[in-house]
Amino acid sequence: MSVVLHNCTVVDGRLAPVEDAAVRVIGERIAAVGPRDRVLAEAEADGAVTRVDLGGAWLTPGLVNMHTHLSLTLPGTAGDRLKRMGPHELALYMADGARRTLHCGVTTVRCVAEKDHADFALRRSIEAGRAPGPRIFTAGLALVCTGGHGHEGSDTLECDGADGFRRGVRQQIRAGADLIKVMISGGIAGEHEAIDTRQLHPDELAAVLQTAHDWGRRVTAHAGPAPVIAEAVELGLDCVEHGYQLTAELAARMAERGTALVPTLLVTRCKEFFDELGVPDWMQRRSLGAGDRHLQSFAYAVEAGVEVLLGSDMPPFWPFEGTNATVRELEHMSAVIGPRRALYAGTLGPVRWLRAERDLGTVEAGKLADLIAMDADPTADTAAFRGVRWVMKGGAVVRDDRCGVRA
Ligand SMILES: [Zn+2]
Repeated sequence: MSVVLHNCTVVDGRLAPVEDAAVRVIGERIAAVGPRDRVLAEAEADGAVTRVDLGGAWLTPGLVNMHTHLSLTLPGTAGDRLKRMGPHELALYMADGARRTLHCGVTTVRCVAEKDHADFALRRSIEAGRAPGPRIFTAGLALVCTGGHGHEGSDTLECDGADGFRRGVRQQIRAGADLIKVMISGGIAGEHEAIDTRQLHPDELAAVLQTAHDWGRRVTAHAGPAPVIAEAVELGLDCVEHGYQLTAELAARMAERGTALVPTLLVTRCKEFFDELGVPDWMQRRSLGAGDRHLQSFAYAVEAGVEVLLGSDMPPFWPFEGTNATVRELEHMSAVIGPRRALYAGTLGPVRWLRAERDLGTVEAGKLADLIAMDADPTADTAAFRGVRWVMKGGAVVRDDRCGVRA
């Protein structure tokens, strides 16, 4: 028994569009992709076929959001409410966010600091089919020095000294972490620090990197200022989050060393979101004031050829400026890199960083059928993702607006 999706144009971050295409899905994986008549004839020769007419849609791989927090709390009234939730309510809150995320067409997320290890419970529930949600790659708790960026929350673990950081890495791996997140500089959301405060000593960061790499885990760092990032890149850091203050020289070195960048451009251009959450003025000023420099950083990275990847920092599903945070972030990236590269930055690029290319990231035979459909061409305009109306994860349709299906 196979399902054939047809009447669609297939695009991914790799190929020229395949028009009048069909995709055959058997179980949770893609069995064939190609011209409609050929794929249908082959499927029918093998037995019963369920045809799904996508109505002329553009079909792409599901989006991958590389910087998410399903339990995000910022300073302010909304954050305070979330901080008061007990563990059960928090888990349900995160499950709701996971479901909304999947319905946006985000079929994979990389969580980079979640509260109380609830992310592992959520992932197990999603994998067991008890809760709908995206595939989750997670860092567990983010590692931070005592008093460092984000230390107030239960989504970070304070460590000090090389031994302390080694233990922190091992604790996350024991809990099931796929990667390690570390805060190496100050941030926007901390009142006692500046964006450019340096927070880890080189021996501490080296301990994080070596321990994580020994266990086959990559490391990403929350980082703003160029000197702190430059040191981390030389030590072997795998990815930079935000990178508010990159220079052209540093960007060139990141490209050379293969250090990726998740720019999270929304963080410095989301006043509406901050207002909605009741975020205090001091933080808003700091954040929105860093916007121009942040965009300049991103431009340096793009020019130098750094691998840039989609990540919203805002909850991935959050309604924002007429769409959701994930798509809005991709639109900001696209304004600099163009829609074709944006498609790559939101699908295959992240999957490569996650080393999940065998299963995800393209519309190709053998891969998991994580697919989304929309009515416009995302390689012509990234805003096409605003119109995602059909979502399949692992061969199961989880959203179909025409039939009113929302699992
Ligand atoms: Zn973040």
